[in-house]
Amino acid sequence: MENCIFCKIANGEIPSGTIEETDLFRVVLDVAPATRGHALILPKAHYANLYELPEEMAGEAMKLAKRIALRMKERLGCDGVNLIQNNEEAAGQTVFHFHIHLIPRYKEDGQKIGWKPGEPTSQELDAIKTLLT
Ligand code: 5GP
Ligand code: ZN
Repeated sequence: MENCIFCKIANGEIPSGTIEETDLFRVVLDVAPATRGHALILPKAHYANLYELPEEMAGEAMKLAKRIALRMKERLGCDGVNLIQNNEEAAGQTVFHFHIHLIPRYKEDGQKIGWKPGEPTSQELDAIKTLLT
């Protein structure tokens, strides 16, 4: 895909801090990391988001995420790891080439990744359950 920065990074056309490369994916360090070691899993082929990503690729991406998360634990000595994957602008996506964030977490790293817990009624939960089942 022309003019997609992550296509260029994933295919090695733009040098990046690569920490892992497979036939299908490249894992690079984020240029504006949330924490020390923040990395991105990028498929080499262009898919805008999770909706477009083939199921087999989704499976491979998660296996890769597990391997890198374990490596982060071992080598960075982080205290935890967040996996974050944004789809569409409303969900915070800014680069429209599928990617998974791997964010090592350190006690008192000062980052906040979260949401304000809602307080739905049981009727509201039931209605949503019906919609999503
Ligand atoms: P999103 O908000 O789309 O989930 O995340 C996009 C991420 O890509 C951000 O964390 C941002 O720092 C990172 N990013 C944007 N441009 C580049 C780049 O040119 N190189 C790398 N390595 N990361 C980038
Ligand atoms: Zn792309």
